[in-house]
Amino acid sequence: MELYELGIKAAQEGLSKGEFTSMELVESIISRVHAVDGKVGAYLTFDEEGALELAKANPGAVPIAIKDLINVSGQPCTCGSKILKGYVSPYDATVVKNLKSNGFIPAGRVNMDEFAMGSSTENSALGVTRNPYALDRVPGGSSGGSAAAVGGDLCIAALGTDTGGSIRQPASFCNCVGVKPSYGRVSRFGVTAFASSLDQVGPMTKSVEDAAILLKAIAGHDDMDGTTPLDAVPDYPALLEGATLKGVKIGLPKEYFEVSGFDPEVKRITEEAIRRCEAAGAELVEVSLPHTEYAMAVYYIIAPAEASANLARFDGVRYGHRSDKAVDVMSLYMKSRAEGFGPEVKRRIIMGTYVLSSGYYDAYYGRAQKVRTLIKRDFDEAFAKVDALLTPCSPTPAFRHGELQDPLTMYLNDLFTIPSALAGVCAASVPSGATSAGLPVGVQFICGGFEETRLLKVCKAFEEATGRVSPRREV
Ligand code: GLN
Repeated sequence: MELYELGIKAAQEGLSKGEFTSMELVESIISRVHAVDGKVGAYLTFDEEGALELAKANPGAVPIAIKDLINVSGQPCTCGSKILKGYVSPYDATVVKNLKSNGFIPAGRVNMDEFAMGSSTENSALGVTRNPYALDRVPGGSSGGSAAAVGGDLCIAALGTDTGGSIRQPASFCNCVGVKPSYGRVSRFGVTAFASSLDQVGPMTKSVEDAAILLKAIAGHDDMDGTTPLDAVPDYPALLEGATLKGVKIGLPKEYFEVSGFDPEVKRITEEAIRRCEAAGAELVEVSLPHTEYAMAVYYIIAPAEASANLARFDGVRYGHRSDKAVDVMSLYMKSRAEGFGPEVKRRIIMGTYVLSSGYYDAYYGRAQKVRTLIKRDFDEAFAKVDALLTPCSPTPAFRHGELQDPLTMYLNDLFTIPSALAGVCAASVPSGATSAGLPVGVQFICGGFEETRLLKVCKAFEEATGRVSPRREV
Protein backbone atom coordinates (compact mmCIF):
# COMPACT_ATOMS: atom_id res chain seq x y z
CA MET A 1 0.00 0.00 0.00
CA GLU A 2 1.23 3.47 -0.90
CA LEU A 3 1.14 6.21 1.74
CA TYR A 4 -1.18 8.38 -0.39
CA GLU A 5 -3.83 5.66 -0.14
CA LEU A 6 -4.10 6.05 3.62
CA GLY A 7 -6.95 7.73 5.41
CA ILE A 8 -6.52 10.02 8.42
CA LYS A 9 -6.79 7.34 11.09
CA ALA A 10 -4.28 5.02 9.43
CA ALA A 11 -1.91 7.92 8.70
CA GLN A 12 -2.05 9.06 12.32
CA GLU A 13 -1.31 5.54 13.54
CA GLY A 14 1.61 5.09 11.15
CA LEU A 15 3.03 8.46 12.14
CA SER A 16 2.75 7.80 15.85
CA LYS A 17 4.41 4.41 15.51
CA GLY A 18 7.22 6.03 13.57
CA GLU A 19 6.57 3.90 10.48
CA PHE A 20 6.93 6.99 8.30
CA THR A 21 7.17 10.75 8.68
CA SER A 22 4.83 13.56 7.68
CA MET A 23 7.35 14.57 5.06
CA GLU A 24 7.19 11.12 3.51
CA LEU A 25 3.42 11.30 3.56
CA VAL A 26 3.43 14.67 1.79
CA GLU A 27 6.08 13.45 -0.68
CA SER A 28 3.94 10.43 -1.51
CA ILE A 29 0.94 12.68 -2.23
CA ILE A 30 3.05 15.02 -4.34
CA SER A 31 4.33 12.14 -6.46
CA ARG A 32 0.77 10.80 -6.86
CA VAL A 33 -0.37 14.27 -7.93
CA HIS A 34 2.46 14.44 -10.47
CA ALA A 35 1.58 10.99 -11.77
CA VAL A 36 -2.18 11.30 -12.22
CA ASP A 37 -3.53 14.79 -11.59
CA GLY A 38 -2.86 15.66 -15.21
CA LYS A 39 -5.79 13.34 -15.93
CA VAL A 40 -8.00 14.23 -12.96
CA GLY A 41 -7.42 17.96 -12.48
CA ALA A 42 -8.35 18.00 -8.78
CA TYR A 43 -5.76 20.60 -7.77
CA LEU A 44 -5.55 24.23 -8.83
CA THR A 45 -2.28 24.93 -7.02
CA PHE A 46 0.02 22.97 -4.75
CA ASP A 47 2.72 24.79 -2.82
CA GLU A 48 4.93 21.73 -2.54
CA GLU A 49 7.79 23.43 -0.73
CA GLY A 50 5.43 25.09 1.74
CA ALA A 51 3.67 21.79 2.48
CA LEU A 52 6.99 19.98 2.96
CA GLU A 53 8.23 22.73 5.28
CA LEU A 54 5.06 22.45 7.38
CA ALA A 55 5.44 18.67 7.46
CA LYS A 56 9.05 19.04 8.60
CA ALA A 57 8.08 21.47 11.36
CA ASN A 58 5.09 19.33 12.44
CA PRO A 59 6.35 15.77 12.26
CA GLY A 60 3.09 14.13 13.39
CA ALA A 61 0.81 16.17 11.14
CA VAL A 62 -1.51 14.84 8.45
CA PRO A 63 -1.90 16.85 5.20
CA ILE A 64 -5.40 17.97 4.16
CA ALA A 65 -6.42 19.33 0.73
CA ILE A 66 -8.29 22.64 0.95
CA LYS A 67 -11.15 23.85 -1.24
CA ASP A 68 -10.03 27.03 -2.96
CA LEU A 69 -12.43 29.37 -1.14
CA ILE A 70 -10.93 28.81 2.32
CA ASN A 71 -8.22 31.32 3.20
CA VAL A 72 -4.78 29.98 4.06
CA SER A 73 -2.27 32.68 4.92
CA GLY A 74 0.18 33.31 2.09
CA GLN A 75 -1.65 31.12 -0.41
CA PRO A 76 -3.84 32.02 -3.37
CA CYS A 77 -7.60 31.77 -2.85
CA THR A 78 -9.31 31.95 -6.22
CA CYS A 79 -12.79 30.60 -5.42
CA GLY A 80 -12.58 29.07 -8.90
CA SER A 81 -12.94 32.55 -10.37
CA LYS A 82 -10.92 34.73 -12.71
CA ILE A 83 -11.88 37.71 -10.60
CA LEU A 84 -9.55 36.60 -7.77
CA LYS A 85 -6.55 35.89 -9.97
CA GLY A 86 -3.42 36.88 -8.13
CA TYR A 87 -5.11 37.29 -4.75
CA VAL A 88 -3.06 36.04 -1.79
CA SER A 89 -4.77 35.46 1.57
CA PRO A 90 -3.46 37.65 4.39
CA TYR A 91 -4.64 35.33 7.16
CA ASP A 92 -5.80 31.80 8.03
CA ALA A 93 -9.51 30.95 8.17
CA THR A 94 -10.50 29.67 11.62
CA VAL A 95 -10.89 26.14 10.22
CA VAL A 96 -7.29 26.30 8.97
CA LYS A 97 -6.06 27.59 12.34
CA ASN A 98 -7.96 24.74 13.99
CA LEU A 99 -6.44 22.23 11.57
CA LYS A 100 -2.94 23.46 12.33
CA SER A 101 -3.44 23.31 16.08
CA ASN A 102 -4.90 19.80 15.92
CA GLY A 103 -2.18 17.95 14.03
CA PHE A 104 -3.10 18.74 10.43
CA ILE A 105 -1.51 20.89 7.76
CA PRO A 106 -3.07 22.43 4.67
CA ALA A 107 -1.53 20.86 1.56
CA GLY A 108 -2.80 21.79 -1.89
CA ARG A 109 -5.75 23.82 -3.14
CA VAL A 110 -8.53 22.01 -4.93
CA ASN A 111 -10.86 23.08 -7.70
CA MET A 112 -14.51 24.12 -7.32
CA ASP A 113 -17.41 25.72 -9.15
CA GLU A 114 -16.94 29.48 -9.25
CA PHE A 115 -17.87 30.87 -5.81
CA ALA A 116 -19.35 27.43 -5.02
CA MET A 117 -22.23 27.90 -7.45
CA GLY A 118 -22.80 24.67 -9.30
CA SER A 119 -23.03 20.89 -9.08
CA SER A 120 -20.35 19.68 -11.50
CA THR A 121 -17.22 21.87 -11.08
CA GLU A 122 -17.81 22.84 -14.73
CA ASN A 123 -18.40 26.41 -13.55
CA SER A 124 -14.76 26.71 -12.48
CA ALA A 125 -13.07 29.37 -14.58
CA LEU A 126 -9.70 27.79 -13.89
CA GLY A 127 -9.78 24.19 -15.03
CA VAL A 128 -11.63 20.95 -15.68
CA THR A 129 -11.91 18.35 -12.93
CA ARG A 130 -12.68 14.76 -13.89
CA ASN A 131 -14.26 11.98 -11.89
CA PRO A 132 -11.52 9.47 -10.97
CA TYR A 133 -14.05 6.64 -11.46
CA ALA A 134 -14.98 7.75 -14.99
CA LEU A 135 -12.78 10.43 -16.51
CA ASP A 136 -15.44 11.44 -19.04
CA ARG A 137 -17.76 12.36 -16.17
CA VAL A 138 -17.94 15.21 -13.68
CA PRO A 139 -16.88 14.81 -10.03
CA GLY A 140 -19.99 16.70 -8.88
CA GLY A 141 -19.79 20.10 -7.27
CA SER A 142 -19.23 22.56 -6.05
CA SER A 143 -16.56 20.76 -3.96
CA GLY A 144 -15.62 18.64 -6.99
CA GLY A 145 -11.86 19.07 -6.57
CA SER A 146 -12.08 17.92 -2.94
CA ALA A 147 -14.15 14.87 -3.92
CA ALA A 148 -11.93 13.93 -6.88
CA ALA A 149 -8.82 14.28 -4.70
CA VAL A 150 -10.24 12.06 -1.94
CA GLY A 151 -11.87 9.55 -4.30
CA GLY A 152 -8.78 9.37 -6.49
CA ASP A 153 -6.33 8.96 -3.57
CA LEU A 154 -4.74 12.28 -4.43
CA CYS A 155 -4.90 13.31 -0.77
CA ILE A 156 -5.54 11.80 2.67
CA ALA A 157 -8.70 13.87 3.20
CA ALA A 158 -10.09 17.24 2.17
CA LEU A 159 -12.22 20.14 3.33
CA GLY A 160 -15.23 21.13 1.28
CA THR A 161 -18.12 23.50 1.80
CA ASP A 162 -21.82 22.87 1.49
CA THR A 163 -24.48 25.52 0.95
CA GLY A 164 -27.12 23.38 -0.75
CA GLY A 165 -25.34 20.06 -1.30
CA SER A 166 -21.79 20.85 -2.35
CA ILE A 167 -20.14 18.39 0.03
CA ARG A 168 -22.68 15.58 -0.19
CA GLN A 169 -23.37 15.35 -3.93
CA PRO A 170 -19.69 15.26 -5.01
CA ALA A 171 -18.94 12.81 -2.19
CA SER A 172 -21.67 10.57 -3.60
CA PHE A 173 -20.27 10.87 -7.14
CA CYS A 174 -16.67 10.11 -6.08
CA ASN A 175 -17.17 7.35 -3.50
CA CYS A 176 -16.24 9.34 -0.41
CA VAL A 177 -17.82 10.22 2.89
CA GLY A 178 -18.97 13.84 3.05
CA VAL A 179 -20.46 15.53 6.10
CA LYS A 180 -22.36 18.81 6.06
CA PRO A 181 -22.32 19.90 9.70
CA SER A 182 -25.29 21.70 11.29
CA TYR A 183 -25.34 25.41 10.60
CA GLY A 184 -23.12 26.97 13.28
CA ARG A 185 -21.13 23.82 14.09
CA VAL A 186 -18.08 25.07 12.19
CA SER A 187 -16.81 28.65 11.95
CA ARG A 188 -17.21 30.43 8.64
CA PHE A 189 -14.59 33.07 9.42
CA GLY A 190 -12.13 33.25 6.54
CA VAL A 191 -14.32 31.17 4.24
CA THR A 192 -15.42 33.20 1.24
CA ALA A 193 -19.16 33.65 1.69
CA PHE A 194 -21.69 32.43 -0.86
CA ALA A 195 -24.96 32.35 1.11
CA SER A 196 -24.19 33.25 4.70
CA SER A 197 -27.28 31.68 6.28
CA LEU A 198 -26.47 28.30 4.67
CA ASP A 199 -22.70 27.92 4.21
CA GLN A 200 -20.86 25.28 6.25
CA VAL A 201 -17.36 23.79 5.99
CA GLY A 202 -17.13 20.03 6.38
CA PRO A 203 -14.93 16.96 6.00
CA MET A 204 -14.63 14.84 2.85
CA THR A 205 -12.88 11.61 3.71
CA LYS A 206 -12.24 7.95 2.93
CA SER A 207 -14.18 6.66 5.96
CA VAL A 208 -16.76 7.74 8.52
CA GLU A 209 -14.20 7.54 11.30
CA ASP A 210 -11.95 9.95 9.38
CA ALA A 211 -14.89 12.33 8.98
CA ALA A 212 -15.43 12.21 12.75
CA ILE A 213 -11.76 12.97 13.41
CA LEU A 214 -11.64 15.85 10.93
CA LEU A 215 -14.95 17.34 12.06
CA LYS A 216 -13.79 17.33 15.67
CA ALA A 217 -10.62 19.15 14.60
CA ILE A 218 -12.37 21.98 12.75
CA ALA A 219 -15.59 22.46 14.77
CA GLY A 220 -16.38 24.68 17.72
CA HIS A 221 -16.95 28.16 18.98
CA ASP A 222 -15.19 31.08 17.31
CA ASP A 223 -15.44 34.67 18.50
CA MET A 224 -15.26 35.68 14.83
CA ASP A 225 -18.46 33.83 13.89
CA GLY A 226 -21.45 34.65 16.07
CA THR A 227 -23.41 31.62 14.85
CA THR A 228 -21.06 29.16 16.61
CA PRO A 229 -22.35 28.22 20.09
CA LEU A 230 -20.09 28.17 23.14
CA ASP A 231 -20.59 24.56 24.19
CA ALA A 232 -17.78 22.06 23.86
CA VAL A 233 -17.47 19.91 20.74
CA PRO A 234 -18.21 16.24 21.49
CA ASP A 235 -15.38 13.76 21.01
CA TYR A 236 -16.91 12.42 17.80
CA PRO A 237 -14.36 9.68 17.03
CA ALA A 238 -14.44 8.29 20.58
CA LEU A 239 -18.23 8.31 20.55
CA LEU A 240 -18.29 6.09 17.44
CA GLU A 241 -17.30 3.13 19.60
CA GLY A 242 -19.96 0.42 19.43
CA ALA A 243 -22.06 2.29 16.85
CA THR A 244 -25.04 0.18 15.84
CA LEU A 245 -28.22 0.41 13.83
CA LYS A 246 -30.00 -1.88 16.28
CA GLY A 247 -33.16 -0.16 17.49
CA VAL A 248 -32.37 3.05 15.58
CA LYS A 249 -35.51 4.60 14.12
CA ILE A 250 -34.83 5.59 10.53
CA GLY A 251 -37.38 7.71 8.73
CA LEU A 252 -37.94 7.45 4.99
CA PRO A 253 -39.41 10.76 3.79
CA LYS A 254 -41.96 9.70 1.18
CA GLU A 255 -41.58 12.89 -0.87
CA TYR A 256 -37.96 11.91 -1.64
CA PHE A 257 -38.99 8.69 -3.33
CA GLU A 258 -41.76 10.10 -5.50
CA VAL A 259 -39.73 12.51 -7.67
CA SER A 260 -39.48 12.24 -11.41
CA GLY A 261 -36.07 11.91 -13.07
CA PHE A 262 -34.90 9.51 -10.37
CA ASP A 263 -32.33 7.20 -11.99
CA PRO A 264 -33.47 3.53 -11.67
CA GLU A 265 -30.03 2.36 -10.58
CA VAL A 266 -29.80 5.02 -7.87
CA LYS A 267 -33.25 3.91 -6.79
CA ARG A 268 -32.11 0.29 -6.64
CA ILE A 269 -28.99 1.19 -4.63
CA THR A 270 -31.05 3.30 -2.22
CA GLU A 271 -33.53 0.44 -1.74
CA GLU A 272 -30.65 -1.95 -1.06
CA ALA A 273 -29.32 0.51 1.52
CA ILE A 274 -32.71 0.56 3.22
CA ARG A 275 -32.79 -3.25 3.34
CA ARG A 276 -29.27 -3.35 4.82
CA CYS A 277 -30.35 -0.96 7.57
CA GLU A 278 -33.32 -3.16 8.32
CA ALA A 279 -31.17 -6.31 8.38
CA ALA A 280 -28.83 -4.54 10.81
CA GLY A 281 -31.71 -3.98 13.21
CA ALA A 282 -32.96 -0.51 12.34
CA GLU A 283 -36.66 0.23 12.57
CA LEU A 284 -37.91 1.84 9.37
CA VAL A 285 -40.70 4.38 9.52
CA GLU A 286 -42.30 6.27 6.67
CA VAL A 287 -42.36 9.99 7.40
CA SER A 288 -43.51 13.04 5.50
CA LEU A 289 -41.74 16.34 4.88
CA PRO A 290 -44.71 18.01 3.19
CA HIS A 291 -43.00 21.26 2.18
CA THR A 292 -40.20 19.51 0.26
CA GLU A 293 -41.62 20.57 -3.09
CA TYR A 294 -41.01 24.25 -2.29
CA ALA A 295 -37.38 23.82 -1.21
CA MET A 296 -35.80 24.39 -4.63
CA ALA A 297 -37.75 27.59 -5.21
CA VAL A 298 -36.94 28.87 -1.72
CA TYR A 299 -33.24 28.04 -2.08
CA TYR A 300 -32.99 29.75 -5.47
CA ILE A 301 -34.35 32.93 -3.92
CA ILE A 302 -32.46 32.96 -0.62
CA ALA A 303 -29.06 31.75 -1.85
CA PRO A 304 -28.81 34.18 -4.80
CA ALA A 305 -30.14 37.03 -2.62
CA GLU A 306 -27.37 36.49 -0.08
CA ALA A 307 -24.82 35.87 -2.83
CA SER A 308 -25.66 39.15 -4.55
CA ALA A 309 -24.84 41.00 -1.32
CA ASN A 310 -21.74 38.94 -0.51
CA LEU A 311 -20.29 39.29 -4.00
CA ALA A 312 -20.66 43.07 -4.06
CA ARG A 313 -17.14 43.33 -2.61
CA PHE A 314 -15.58 41.96 -5.81
CA ASP A 315 -15.67 45.24 -7.65
CA GLY A 316 -12.11 45.90 -8.74
CA VAL A 317 -11.72 48.42 -5.91
CA ARG A 318 -11.99 46.50 -2.65
CA TYR A 319 -11.26 43.06 -4.08
CA GLY A 320 -10.68 41.45 -7.39
CA HIS A 321 -9.71 41.98 -10.98
CA ARG A 322 -9.66 45.60 -12.12
CA SER A 323 -10.53 46.28 -15.73
CA ASP A 324 -8.07 48.42 -17.65
CA LYS A 325 -10.82 49.51 -20.06
CA ALA A 326 -12.65 51.73 -17.58
CA VAL A 327 -13.09 55.43 -18.22
CA ASP A 328 -14.83 56.42 -14.99
CA VAL A 329 -15.81 54.94 -11.62
CA MET A 330 -19.09 53.44 -12.83
CA SER A 331 -17.51 51.77 -15.81
CA LEU A 332 -14.71 50.52 -13.56
CA TYR A 333 -17.22 48.63 -11.45
CA MET A 334 -19.19 47.40 -14.42
CA LYS A 335 -16.32 46.30 -16.61
CA SER A 336 -14.35 44.72 -13.77
CA ARG A 337 -17.33 42.62 -12.74
CA ALA A 338 -18.36 41.80 -16.31
CA GLU A 339 -14.84 40.62 -17.16
CA GLY A 340 -14.20 38.85 -13.86
CA PHE A 341 -17.33 36.80 -13.17
CA GLY A 342 -18.51 33.77 -15.14
CA PRO A 343 -22.07 33.28 -16.48
CA GLU A 344 -23.52 31.30 -13.53
CA VAL A 345 -22.28 33.83 -10.98
CA LYS A 346 -23.77 36.66 -13.04
CA ARG A 347 -27.06 34.77 -13.26
CA ARG A 348 -27.17 34.42 -9.48
CA ILE A 349 -26.29 38.07 -8.86
CA ILE A 350 -29.04 39.16 -11.25
CA MET A 351 -31.61 36.83 -9.63
CA GLY A 352 -30.49 37.91 -6.18
CA THR A 353 -30.69 41.63 -6.78
CA TYR A 354 -34.07 41.16 -8.47
CA VAL A 355 -35.66 39.31 -5.53
CA LEU A 356 -34.26 41.89 -3.11
CA SER A 357 -35.36 44.93 -5.10
CA SER A 358 -37.93 47.13 -3.37
CA GLY A 359 -40.93 46.16 -5.49
CA TYR A 360 -40.34 42.43 -5.18
CA TYR A 361 -38.79 41.99 -1.74
CA ASP A 362 -42.02 40.93 0.00
CA ALA A 363 -43.25 38.83 -2.91
CA TYR A 364 -40.07 36.79 -3.21
CA TYR A 365 -37.53 37.16 -0.44
CA GLY A 366 -39.99 37.73 2.42
CA ARG A 367 -42.13 34.83 1.27
CA ALA A 368 -39.17 32.49 0.80
CA GLN A 369 -38.10 33.18 4.39
CA LYS A 370 -41.56 32.19 5.63
CA VAL A 371 -41.60 28.97 3.61
CA ARG A 372 -38.09 28.22 4.86
CA THR A 373 -39.53 28.21 8.38
CA LEU A 374 -42.17 25.69 7.28
CA ILE A 375 -39.48 23.46 5.77
CA LYS A 376 -37.52 23.63 9.02
CA ARG A 377 -40.65 22.69 10.96
CA ASP A 378 -41.13 19.61 8.76
CA PHE A 379 -37.73 18.39 9.95
CA ASP A 380 -38.50 19.21 13.61
CA GLU A 381 -41.67 17.16 13.37
CA ALA A 382 -39.91 14.25 11.67
CA PHE A 383 -37.15 14.20 14.29
CA ALA A 384 -39.76 14.04 17.05
CA LYS A 385 -40.57 10.59 15.65
CA VAL A 386 -37.28 9.23 14.27
CA ASP A 387 -33.56 9.37 15.02
CA ALA A 388 -32.37 9.85 11.46
CA LEU A 389 -33.64 10.12 7.91
CA LEU A 390 -32.36 8.05 5.01
CA THR A 391 -32.72 9.46 1.49
CA PRO A 392 -30.96 9.27 -1.85
CA CYS A 393 -28.16 11.83 -2.06
CA SER A 394 -28.53 12.81 -5.69
CA PRO A 395 -31.15 11.67 -8.22
CA THR A 396 -28.49 10.43 -10.66
CA PRO A 397 -24.93 9.14 -10.62
CA ALA A 398 -22.13 11.30 -12.06
CA PHE A 399 -23.11 12.67 -15.45
CA ARG A 400 -20.91 13.39 -18.46
CA HIS A 401 -19.07 16.66 -18.96
CA GLY A 402 -21.34 18.97 -20.93
CA GLU A 403 -24.36 16.69 -20.48
CA LEU A 404 -26.46 19.12 -18.44
CA GLN A 405 -26.61 22.31 -20.44
CA ASP A 406 -29.63 23.98 -18.99
CA PRO A 407 -29.15 25.63 -15.56
CA LEU A 408 -32.51 24.40 -14.26
CA THR A 409 -31.64 20.75 -14.95
CA MET A 410 -28.36 21.32 -13.15
CA TYR A 411 -30.18 22.83 -10.16
CA LEU A 412 -32.35 19.70 -9.91
CA ASN A 413 -29.28 17.73 -8.85
CA ASP A 414 -29.64 19.22 -5.39
CA LEU A 415 -33.25 18.22 -4.87
CA PHE A 416 -32.36 15.91 -1.99
CA THR A 417 -29.68 18.02 -0.32
CA ILE A 418 -31.25 21.48 -0.37
CA PRO A 419 -34.12 21.00 2.13
CA SER A 420 -31.82 19.90 4.98
CA ALA A 421 -29.47 22.80 4.20
CA LEU A 422 -32.39 25.23 4.51
CA ALA A 423 -33.34 23.60 7.82
CA GLY A 424 -29.77 23.98 9.13
CA VAL A 425 -29.60 20.35 10.28
CA CYS A 426 -26.65 17.99 9.75
CA ALA A 427 -26.44 15.46 6.94
CA ALA A 428 -23.92 13.16 5.32
CA SER A 429 -23.34 11.10 2.21
CA VAL A 430 -21.88 7.62 2.65
CA PRO A 431 -20.79 5.27 -0.18
CA SER A 432 -23.53 2.75 -0.74
CA GLY A 433 -22.93 0.94 -4.01
CA ALA A 434 -22.20 1.35 -7.70
CA THR A 435 -24.20 1.29 -10.90
CA SER A 436 -23.70 -1.51 -13.42
CA ALA A 437 -21.33 0.84 -15.26
CA GLY A 438 -19.25 1.16 -12.08
CA LEU A 439 -20.28 4.65 -11.01
CA PRO A 440 -20.27 5.20 -7.24
CA VAL A 441 -23.52 6.15 -5.53
CA GLY A 442 -23.89 7.46 -1.99
CA VAL A 443 -26.85 7.43 0.32
CA GLN A 444 -27.76 10.40 2.51
CA PHE A 445 -28.44 10.34 6.25
CA ILE A 446 -29.90 13.42 7.94
CA CYS A 447 -30.11 14.15 11.68
CA GLY A 448 -31.33 17.12 13.69
CA GLY A 449 -29.38 20.30 14.44
CA PHE A 450 -26.17 19.62 16.41
CA GLU A 451 -26.88 15.89 16.35
CA GLU A 452 -23.56 15.10 14.65
CA THR A 453 -22.73 12.37 17.15
CA ARG A 454 -25.91 10.51 16.27
CA LEU A 455 -25.40 11.14 12.55
CA LEU A 456 -21.83 9.85 12.55
CA LYS A 457 -22.83 6.76 14.56
CA VAL A 458 -25.58 5.90 12.09
CA CYS A 459 -23.17 6.45 9.19
CA LYS A 460 -20.50 4.33 10.85
CA ALA A 461 -22.90 1.44 11.48
CA PHE A 462 -24.18 1.75 7.91
CA GLU A 463 -20.62 1.69 6.60
CA GLU A 464 -19.93 -1.48 8.57
CA ALA A 465 -23.09 -3.11 7.26
CA THR A 466 -22.19 -2.12 3.69
CA GLY A 467 -18.52 -3.00 3.61
CA ARG A 468 -16.08 -1.22 1.36
CA VAL A 469 -17.57 -0.08 -1.92
CA SER A 470 -14.81 -0.37 -4.52
CA PRO A 471 -15.92 0.33 -8.05
CA ARG A 472 -13.18 0.30 -10.67
CA ARG A 473 -11.19 3.51 -10.78
CA GLU A 474 -9.55 4.97 -13.88
CA VAL A 475 -6.49 6.38 -12.14
N1 GLN B 1 -25.37 23.25 -6.39
C1 GLN B 1 -25.97 24.20 -5.50
C2 GLN B 1 -25.81 25.58 -6.07
O1 GLN B 1 -25.38 25.70 -7.16
C3 GLN B 1 -25.32 24.10 -4.15
C4 GLN B 1 -23.97 24.66 -4.12
C5 GLN B 1 -23.31 24.59 -2.79
O2 GLN B 1 -23.74 23.86 -1.91
N2 GLN B 1 -22.29 25.41 -2.62
O3 GLN B 1 -26.13 26.55 -5.45
